[in-house]
Amino acid sequence: MLPTRGYATDGPTSDLVPFDFERREPGARDVLIDIHFCGICHSDIHQVRGEWDNSIYPMVPGHEIVGRVARVGAEVTRFKEGDLAGVGCFVDSCRACANCTAGDEQFCERHLALTYNSTEMDEQTPTYGGYSSQIVVDENYALKVSSDLPLANVAPLLCAGITTYSPLRRFNVGQGQRVGVVGLGGLGHMGVKLAAAMGANVTVFSTSPSKEEDARRLGAHDFVVTRDPENLVALAGQYDLILDAVSAPHDFNVYLNLLRRHGVMVLVGVPEKPAEIEAFSLITNGRSLVGSMIGGIRETQEMLDYCAQNNITSDVEVIPIQRLAEAYDRTVKGDVRYRFVIDMQSLKEGN
Ligand code: NAP
Ligand code: ZN
Ligand code: ZN
Repeated sequence: MLPTRGYATDGPTSDLVPFDFERREPGARDVLIDIHFCGICHSDIHQVRGEWDNSIYPMVPGHEIVGRVARVGAEVTRFKEGDLAGVGCFVDSCRACANCTAGDEQFCERHLALTYNSTEMDEQTPTYGGYSSQIVVDENYALKVSSDLPLANVAPLLCAGITTYSPLRRFNVGQGQRVGVVGLGGLGHMGVKLAAAMGANVTVFSTSPSKEEDARRLGAHDFVVTRDPENLVALAGQYDLILDAVSAPHDFNVYLNLLRRHGVMVLVGVPEKPAEIEAFSLITNGRSLVGSMIGGIRETQEMLDYCAQNNITSDVEVIPIQRLAEAYDRTVKGDVRYRFVIDMQSLKEGN
């Protein structure tokens, strides 16, 4: 077994503190990755704090992982020692069900081995995530990362990137379409960059007036402050697609009303409480409300390649792991520009 250092919490109100555990020895098809950076996704915070009622402790969070391959198993063909590699939200799945074979492993019908707060395919061995020094993963669940992009800025693509890329592709977002992005956080800012790169006309809907300048720099054409509902009235019926990336409970109806005929609102945010939908918000203009969850391995690789070709990365604030508590508090306040990323070098330096 491989002694590994990470940060873990042992309960919903506990702090994240240093935690020593073991990773498996790499098997024939495994790669061992030295983690250089790991992004802080709001899903980490929801789960660390037990907000989704699914938490398993001790929990080592982190599913926006990038680093360098330190060792490969005898049968590994896709990676060699020294290669850059990434790991996203899951580390295994059954590989045989209809959804796995269709490339939508995230919807595996048998068991999805999430990167943390989950179990391996034996449904017993706990999985521990990327707030740690190294990870062992089957090569088929590791992603290739371009050396042309700054590595810290690539990390958030492994969750925030694919979670926004996948629905934009599914609904063929492109030139001539009007897209709204609700909530300018980690997911939201990637949604803006990607939708703008695909040619859409993008509006950011935000509770934070101070983010307007950034929104325009990221590629938004319009910026609407949602604190005053009056600002939304004139925009009724104008949008083809709205991507809702808000982490806290809010009214979905006000955004549904902005959709034009057959417009689609995609939920990617996961507030901890249910929302009320008025039937009129949906029947008017024949609108759809759909959900989307990360993306499969093939599509995640496609997204990483698209980002490398188009020079798209995340705007990040790099922090040492000792500053997790502050990063969590600022993220919850909506005060993140636009993703915190942990420099894992700090694990070796501090305690
Ligand atoms: P984040 O960085 O914290 O961004 C969330 C943004 O939502 C904030 O920056 C803020 O933007 C807005 N917001 C926060 N509280 C609000 C409130 N009370 N009312 C209205 N707006 C509010 O979070 P994230 O990492 O992007 O994640 C967003 C959500 O997506 C989380 O629930 C996360 O768990 C979920 N998620 C889902 C998937 C998936 O596969 N579907 C994947 C990853 C994450 P403004 O300041 O612009 O208002
Ligand atoms: Zn995430
Ligand atoms: Zn499956």
